[in-house]
Amino acid sequence: MFHFDRGLKLTRADLAVDYRRRQPRGFISHAHRDHMARHELALCTPHTARLYHARMGQRPVLEMPYRETLDWGGLKLTTYPAGHCLGSAMLFADDGEQTLLYTGDFKLAESATAERAELPTADILVIESTYGAPAHRHVPRGQAIDQLLTLVEATLRDGKTPVVQAYALGKAQEVTAILTAAGHSVMQHREVYEISLVYRACGVELGAFELLRGKPRDGCTVIVPPHRHARADLGRIRAAVTFAVTGWATSSSRRLGVDHAIPLSDHADYDDLLAAVAQVNARVVYCTHGPESFVDCLRAEGYRAYPLDTKCPTAEASRSPVQLRIF
Ligand SMILES: [Zn+2]
Repeated sequence: MFHFDRGLKLTRADLAVDYRRRQPRGFISHAHRDHMARHELALCTPHTARLYHARMGQRPVLEMPYRETLDWGGLKLTTYPAGHCLGSAMLFADDGEQTLLYTGDFKLAESATAERAELPTADILVIESTYGAPAHRHVPRGQAIDQLLTLVEATLRDGKTPVVQAYALGKAQEVTAILTAAGHSVMQHREVYEISLVYRACGVELGAFELLRGKPRDGCTVIVPPHRHARADLGRIRAAVTFAVTGWATSSSRRLGVDHAIPLSDHADYDDLLAAVAQVNARVVYCTHGPESFVDCLRAEGYRAYPLDTKCPTAEASRSPVQLRIF
């Protein structure tokens, strides 16, 4: 049903899934840059299409609204919400003989800005397992939000400016929605602002936010992307107190080079990964992007599990119900 060609390809439809290099036909699970390329034809949800266009220009797209099955390339393809960011989707493929679910980046917990994840059962599960180690258990979302609001309010009371570093797509809008719902004024770096406008156009309520031009107004919280160029602009902000909003709950603020680290994640943690595997109830599980030890954890739980990469053991792959080509 699929093969591995430096990435996952659905064989019958010749559909590349989340490739970073241009393909004739590419499914894009969500609009983070490590999942996109300028494909000749991209398949994605309508909201991902808007974000894809905003980031990579107008490109040919075949839109796949959630839960609507598309007959395409000899497969029935359906997207389901992944709970990771606006438009993020899992891909469910049915070739008439077996079914496959590709999760992409996903999160089971609720989100202020993304539809909650839905996991159908499937014969084959390809799961994104970034946090696939027992050390990666996120603190409860409510606790992370309380921590963010408490520290932002303390910073403002001191007459200083909270500056939150968050990914321009997804995390920045999540933080904006949380802060504005608590009554805070938010000013955004241009890169964040342009994505926020797409969210707003898609009907996501982010509250009142504005573009940061020059210096921020007193009493505002500033949101910037975490990259160096954006951080370089921070020198203009007087008495800035810096925050990183990161899923790596174990990351210390010192290691991240900020005053405060807030453990708010857009990814499933270890417990959620195990819950997702149980829910999909697949005959075989392939793990991507995570530690190889996660495969061992699944095998210890009795699952037939393999890493999805060139290190996948050929002998075991040949016994599996899917055809896996190793390059
Ligand atoms: Zn992502």
